[in-house]
Amino acid sequence: MKLMTDYDRDNYAITVSHGALAQIDTSLYDKVIMIVDETVLALHDQRLRPLCASSEVFAVSAGEELKSLPKYSEMINRIIEAGVTRSSAIVAVGGGSVGDFAGFIAATLLRGIDFIQVPTTILAHDSAIGGKVGINATLGKNLIGAFKRPAAVIYDLDFLDTLPYSEKLSGFGEIIKHAMLDSDDTLAQLMAAFPARQQLEHLADIDEWLIRGMQQKLTVVQADEHETGLRKTLNLGHTFGHAVEFTHHIPHGHAVMHGLIYTWLLSGRDITALKSWFKALELPMIELRPFVTYLSLMAKDKKNSHNEIQFVLLDDGPRMETVSEERLYQTYKKAGGSYES
Ligand code: NAD
Ligand code: ZN
Repeated sequence: MKLMTDYDRDNYAITVSHGALAQIDTSLYDKVIMIVDETVLALHDQRLRPLCASSEVFAVSAGEELKSLPKYSEMINRIIEAGVTRSSAIVAVGGGSVGDFAGFIAATLLRGIDFIQVPTTILAHDSAIGGKVGINATLGKNLIGAFKRPAAVIYDLDFLDTLPYSEKLSGFGEIIKHAMLDSDDTLAQLMAAFPARQQLEHLADIDEWLIRGMQQKLTVVQADEHETGLRKTLNLGHTFGHAVEFTHHIPHGHAVMHGLIYTWLLSGRDITALKSWFKALELPMIELRPFVTYLSLMAKDKKNSHNEIQFVLLDDGPRMETVSEERLYQTYKKAGGSYES
């Protein structure tokens, strides 16, 4: 399956298939610099061997610690030392952390060189497209970054089998978000396709849902690449979700799922079915902290202004609304949390 972006220029193809890796053409570049998740390299050694053979390989340890200024500085100097020109390309092999990190290097090295995304997680169906790349500042996530369209996205589904369930579920959190943004009907279809952990564990028909999620995201980012309006709706579940992720140190998509429940409540919707679905998917529960913990983090969020917090709510479709702290607190109590410690 091949998707193509529809910008005025600098379009890129997104190839999604088993065995897609073979489509990377390294002969287009004078040098290919591969930044690869060391876990993926170990688990998929055979699969990656041909690409490694025609590239300069840098293995990295995935995660938020990778997306830091010291790691960025170290990597960029190693690449310069090894030799790089404007006709070279960076290939990122890994999940969202490796894609964000390697993409930011590609965006800034020599004022930008080509960048190919090879996502290896379910979550990366989201992070590998849309062109946002970046690293974390000491004071906050993703605060240093750029918009950098990849030259290509090669999504080889053969990588996904080795993901632990926790990471499958984390990526599924974003698939749920994309389904919700599409319609209640799409969400109902997704619930029917993956009613519980067993189906998600086996990733049956996940291809179709990854493609639908990517199409959903592409439609939005093509209309508003630099997030002046519509793209903000992709933050559905993320305002509360980011506060939960930061506080509880849980995988991104798990936090988004908690954020989606909260957003559902805030939108005045019944959460019974959603909650029992997440239970069947075995989303780990969190012990909620006092509301102020999350509030202060939400208030810091770069998308907000003054005493109200901007949220993406969901009626027939997504809409932006600034919500008062009092309403946020009342919703939080309904979700089972308390304000006092
Ligand atoms: P990740 O890169 O940290 O990968 C998660 C874990 O899965 C790691 O332990 C990794 O080693 C492991 N892994 C990766 N591929 C594997 C495979 N095939 N088999 C077994 N294990 C594998 O994170 P992620 O969950 O993919 O992405 C999260 C990151 O994405 C966050 O940093 C987030 O900020 C970013 N993100 C970016 C965007 C964007 O638009 N740029 C959007 C959403 C999320
Ligand atoms: Zn997300």
